[in-house]
Amino acid sequence: MTPFNYLLAKDLEEASTLSQQHANSEFISGGTNLIDLMKENISKPDALIDINKISGINEIEELHDDGLRLGALVKNADTAYHPLVQKNYPLLSQAILAGASPQLRNMASNGGNLLQRTRCYYFYDTATPCNKREPGTGCSAIGGYNRIHAILGASENCIAVFPSDMCVALAALDARINIFGSDGTRTVAFADFHRLPGDTPDLDNNLKPGELITSIDLPAEGFEFHSSYLKLRDRTSYAFALVSVATALKIEDGIIKDARLALGGLAHRPWRDVKAEEFLKEKEPTAKNFSTAADIILRGAKGHEHNAFKIELARRAIIRNGLTAVN
Ligand code: SF4
Repeated sequence: MTPFNYLLAKDLEEASTLSQQHANSEFISGGTNLIDLMKENISKPDALIDINKISGINEIEELHDDGLRLGALVKNADTAYHPLVQKNYPLLSQAILAGASPQLRNMASNGGNLLQRTRCYYFYDTATPCNKREPGTGCSAIGGYNRIHAILGASENCIAVFPSDMCVALAALDARINIFGSDGTRTVAFADFHRLPGDTPDLDNNLKPGELITSIDLPAEGFEFHSSYLKLRDRTSYAFALVSVATALKIEDGIIKDARLALGGLAHRPWRDVKAEEFLKEKEPTAKNFSTAADIILRGAKGHEHNAFKIELARRAIIRNGLTAVN
């Protein structure tokens, strides 16, 4: 690990200012991914800016429109077990509890969950080329061992996937992300936060220098009656998703009135396809209709040597989880 300075920010303004004064710095809250990255010499900040003492971003509070605001510093476990999250957003609770381990969920913050980095094994192996770690060096996964990699939205520069479970549910729930920076505050739709790799795979998201996440807003519509999160992985705990599906449905008189489908483990960001969701509207929630929705989502899927199995796995997961959400 490279030596670094430790800086404690007392408020958002100071955190943002410190970040801009130290160009090679990182914010730290739980540190559950960042410390790993530092130990492996993948992330080498010369300053860590501790944001844990900042007040006002460590709470879960109801919004005026009946939605819910999740503070960026609230721990993943506290979010998953919060009574209002369990009651109104069971999809989110389920997804969080499918991730990592109890110990990690007790430390990891909500903001940090959105900022975790890919678990591509080459990204963590500094002896191998990796465009995400060192732009311009190449991608070892393309032509290498790529079992866990992307089948949607990848580029010739990177086929990594985003590892979060929580974010798949947030994508399905149309969350909004509140951000603080030198220009003040701004809010972005969840779909606009994470990036596809394109020709700059080193950039995971659209945060600007000095900006930090302050909270995540959940709209009032929680899909609490018909939702389900399915995570398929190599072992039943403490493993990242090969494929995951967050399904949220609004059903009236046996007909789907609204549908959300978000997928994890398949792309550089949680994957949604509004055409598949539109298709499901005014349809019966049958295996056949979920299968057609899966075909729409996966129409552009491209497998590599070791991960082509994900295409059929994703199709089956979408159908199975759709039927689970109905009941
Ligand atoms: Fe690096 Fe992305 Fe290629 Fe993995 S897939 S080796 S993260 S460039």
